[in-house]
Amino acid sequence: MKGTFLYDFVDVIKNCSYSNTYKMAWAKSLLEIALEDEWHTHHPITISLETMAENILKYYWNHTYFFNLIQGSNPNKPPEIISIARKLITAYQNAYNTFYPERFERVTHKLKTLPEYNQQLKRVVKTLKQDVSYRFLYLNKRVLPMYQYEKKSNTFTIEPAHLKQLKNHAYMLFDIINYRWALILETYNSSPRIAKKVKITEERKIKRAPLQKYYEKIALDNPKQICFLCNKVIVETPSIDHVIPWSYLYSDDLWNLVFVHKSCNASKSNRVPDESLIKKLEARNRNLLKLLGDMKKTDKHFHELVLAERENTVQKFWIGCQ
Ligand SMILES: [Zn+2]
Repeated sequence: MKGTFLYDFVDVIKNCSYSNTYKMAWAKSLLEIALEDEWHTHHPITISLETMAENILKYYWNHTYFFNLIQGSNPNKPPEIISIARKLITAYQNAYNTFYPERFERVTHKLKTLPEYNQQLKRVVKTLKQDVSYRFLYLNKRVLPMYQYEKKSNTFTIEPAHLKQLKNHAYMLFDIINYRWALILETYNSSPRIAKKVKITEERKIKRAPLQKYYEKIALDNPKQICFLCNKVIVETPSIDHVIPWSYLYSDDLWNLVFVHKSCNASKSNRVPDESLIKKLEARNRNLLKLLGDMKKTDKHFHELVLAERENTVQKFWIGCQ
């Protein structure tokens, strides 16, 4: 197996430095392209850096918009492509007046109508040229013959047989890439469930589960439906909100869920709560725990609340998410 294309590909992934995640994005994009055809031809296949750039922008958009994952060692100077993804997210939010995270694939058609889009995509291509397309071939001072790339070129060529191998092993390769990507991210991010976040952004099903099943329990402590954020009564059906942002936790837990106005929820976006809200949440949890205990409603959610109390979960995650 050593010396084969597939061995080299996996070797680069496994030995990639921890300084940033570009090589993982590059490998994943190549894999995605490999899945698009059967590669029956014998002629080398030309792939443009722009095609790669669009895939790579997609990964970073999804990682950033849903989970705000940090992709490089210097938080004040994120890798260039992350800055580009953030710029596009802001442009999209302004143009469509929304903070609700959407997958890149779902809004690509909208993004392409933004004046910034083509310009930013070109910047991604430029970064790939400078930092990724030829560096991906270098390992331990050797150049691996995985594909042919002339420095500064806008395209590279790859043997169809290589793409076929990628396609045949994609099932395993995606997991190898995701695992390494998560390992790198763990060095910069303190948020929980990193590997799960990396995996789920690939699976096209990042979905916020409906929170209505928590309604009754939240109402036990808050029967008048007072908004957690503005303290006024909610006349309509209350929205259920994560006090510590969902993007950070990537989990729905009773200890973190409260009633809010839809409008209060929308204006809050993903901001970190202040200390008074955290104290208020802790008091609410103590009271809710007592109420549930008194009523002998000792189900799964009750035990999660007990655990959160004992482990000081609210404080821990609040400190972590700042
Ligand atoms: Zn409110």
